[in-house]
Amino acid sequence: MNSFDQFVKQIVDRPTWMGRASCSNLDVEMFFPKKGAPKKEVVKICNSCPVQEECLSFAVLNGERQGTWGGLSSGARRGMYTKIKKEKEGR
Ligand code: SF4
Repeated sequence: MNSFDQFVKQIVDRPTWMGRASCSNLDVEMFFPKKGAPKKEVVKICNSCPVQEECLSFAVLNGERQGTWGGLSSGARRGMYTKIKKEKEGR
């Protein structure tokens, strides 16, 4: 599959909850800080977002390593990935 096909597939496969996201009309760069935690302004948007739970679940289940999802930074989610991995391995 070439990159255009992947791009089209991502749009077609886009989860329906994304249409209700508080960030859908905002600058995506706000949610992908170059370094460190998201700004308070971004966390505030996420904490009042009607699909915060779906967003965070999507990121964790898909192993998203970049950006702010559900108001959590990639670093904050990393602990969740580790916990899920250990649970899968029965540790
Ligand atoms: S919780 Fe997710 S969908 Fe909602 S504003 Fe934050 S990043 Fe966007």
